[in-house]
Amino acid sequence: MTTKAHTIKAPADADQRKAIKPMICYAVNDLPPFDAAFYEQAREGIQMVDEVVVPPRDAATFDVPAGHFFRIVSTEGPQVGDLNLWNSDDLNERFFSGKTRQLHATHVTRGDRLWSTLPGLRPMATITHDTLEWYGFDEFGGGVHDVIGTRCDPYTNHMLKGVDYHHCCHSNLTRALANTKGMPLTEAELHVHDVMNVFMCTGFTRDTQQYFMKASPVRPGDFIEFFAEINLLGNLSACPGGDCGSSHSDDATQCYPLLVQIFKPKEGALDSWRSPSRSAYSGTHGV
Ligand SMILES: [Zn+2]
Repeated sequence: MTTKAHTIKAPADADQRKAIKPMICYAVNDLPPFDAAFYEQAREGIQMVDEVVVPPRDAATFDVPAGHFFRIVSTEGPQVGDLNLWNSDDLNERFFSGKTRQLHATHVTRGDRLWSTLPGLRPMATITHDTLEWYGFDEFGGGVHDVIGTRCDPYTNHMLKGVDYHHCCHSNLTRALANTKGMPLTEAELHVHDVMNVFMCTGFTRDTQQYFMKASPVRPGDFIEFFAEINLLGNLSACPGGDCGSSHSDDATQCYPLLVQIFKPKEGALDSWRSPSRSAYSGTHGV
């Protein structure tokens, strides 16, 4: 860890300025409420309709129609997953990690929503179950399922280590999307975006606020479950970092597959539900 030396002298009222109490940035109490009772009844009697295995150090895509559930399941050993989500009818609308973080928290769990990019800005998916919700935050400030980091990628790796590694999550997601859509890699790469780090345990160091990772607490049988609020194309990479307890962007760590399961709710369970619309902002930007 490095602590940067200050070269600028603090002003006389520095202590006063620093003592101002923080406030939550957005009026999050005004967000559409998480209707736990609705999602709980919708979960009852769900039926699995599809299953996709994500091989270690690789990625796989999956479709989830609006109103279906999907689970990401740990099966053989502790493994972190990097998740991308798109509106399957329009790839320009995709998961907005930054706004999700601002509206909820650095780490997401049951009751939180994954929001889409502007100008859509609507819930793409709602987290309806999380077997790791007991974790909360540990003594280091670490939590599970972060939206503060992003995918490991071959560019940063090349900058730091001077080598080409082709199974970073960024490349895995790019290859999987290109295969699914029949797109050139160069086109698919531009659709790959900041991820939700499923099962990953991360935080910011208390002293220097640097991004850290530690071995994931996930164990086989754990899963996180989402309700698809719109038609979704998902893409999940089983990170080459495995449980992300030691390294990533290399073949050094034991890695395991991840399982994605898609579930259909029973007849009538969604009678009171409507897929959310895109933002109602006029889009004129004052012009
Ligand atoms: Zn990764």
